[in-house]
Amino acid sequence: MKNVCLLGSTGSIGLSTLDVIKLNPDEYSVVALTANKNLKRLLAQCVEFRPRYAVVSKHDDADTFRQMLESSDAADTLVLSGAESLEFVAQLPEVSIVVAAIVGAAGLLATLAAANASKTLLLANKESLVISGDLLMTAVKDNGGLLLPVDSEHNALFQCMPDGYKAGQRIDGVRKLILTASGGPFLNAMPGELENVTVEQACAHPNWSMGKKISVDSATMMNKGLEVIEASYLFDMPAELIQVLVHPQSIIHSMVDYVDGSVLAQLGNPDMKTPIAHALAWPKRHRSGVAALDFITNNQLSFEAPSYDKFPCLRLAYEALDIKGTAPAILNAANEIAVDAFLSKRLRFMEIPKLIEKVMVNSTIDSADSIESVITADAEARIIAKQYVENF
Ligand code: NAD
Ligand code: MG
Repeated sequence: MKNVCLLGSTGSIGLSTLDVIKLNPDEYSVVALTANKNLKRLLAQCVEFRPRYAVVSKHDDADTFRQMLESSDAADTLVLSGAESLEFVAQLPEVSIVVAAIVGAAGLLATLAAANASKTLLLANKESLVISGDLLMTAVKDNGGLLLPVDSEHNALFQCMPDGYKAGQRIDGVRKLILTASGGPFLNAMPGELENVTVEQACAHPNWSMGKKISVDSATMMNKGLEVIEASYLFDMPAELIQVLVHPQSIIHSMVDYVDGSVLAQLGNPDMKTPIAHALAWPKRHRSGVAALDFITNNQLSFEAPSYDKFPCLRLAYEALDIKGTAPAILNAANEIAVDAFLSKRLRFMEIPKLIEKVMVNSTIDSADSIESVITADAEARIIAKQYVENF
């Protein structure tokens, strides 16, 4: 029995994780669940999974949630609140697996806390690697923990690495990593059409059902940019050896190109339950609930180069990775503010990359050798980004 702490249980990855756990009830015990605002969903999860702890973000919500639990079947669950409680549950001695599924920089400290406590870290929260890649990978290594990537592309790359591979190792004989990208909802849109994109259009991903922030990131292709940075840290590869390849069907989830001419790929239906089940069960396998891939109905796999003109976010992410230091943290912070402003209709779709570029140009880039320096860079970039949102 593995004891699981699920950070961000009410989100898209959180729900898929609980679905996989439900399919394999003898394998897992849920020790902690956490949510930002959706108390109703958290309550239903507590009733079903009976965790020892439930964490809500706002201190003000804790009493409300305690009352909700008391009048339910899950009165034994202890309610905690605030960011420090996320770190507390991520470090509980009885927990062996921490699933990091909070969206954005809000997940950073709890993810780092899990790594510092030597947990097996199932990482969906790609932003924490983007912000503090070296620090997080060092924390995993120095504390003897394990990092298993949940992001589908990185999970695919991990599966294409030799047996016994551990995240953070550079493998001799790899020529390049090929990250596949669906291209998002606007792959075939004319550049001019992107000017008046609505929130609904941006969030309507053709292949994947996801949270709002990552859906917008997929539409701008910043998601792929963040994933290039994520891959660079996870597999110790420089930017020039990570190629983005548009593959609109999302059947091949990524590939490793070896120097002997072999290319290894991982395929499957586009459903996050597959990489989640892989990481939960690793090094074994168990069911995920995802249907077998049907090659006859999926008999058209196509590939094309991404357009850096149409999707400037991709270029900005490569530039941040080249610069390194706090540049990726600044890119991420500016993107979070821009996406939030787009979702609340204060910024237009094509202003997202413009705003990020302005913030990057006008920020001081430092070395990212301490958590304080990346947190400072993140905070300063947010202030600058918010000023630009007001003035666009
Ligand atoms: P989501 O918006 O559906 O869920 C986010 C979760 O984080 C929720 O449980 C929410 O309560 C919690 N949360 C949000 N803000 C918080 C805060 N300030 N403090 C504490 N908790 C907070 O997002 P998602 O789509 O599940 O994505 C989660 C992470 O996984 C992201 O980093 C995303 O990039 C990554 N990811 C998602 C997918 C996917 O298919 N959804 C695929 C690959 C990677
Ligand atoms: Mg992905």
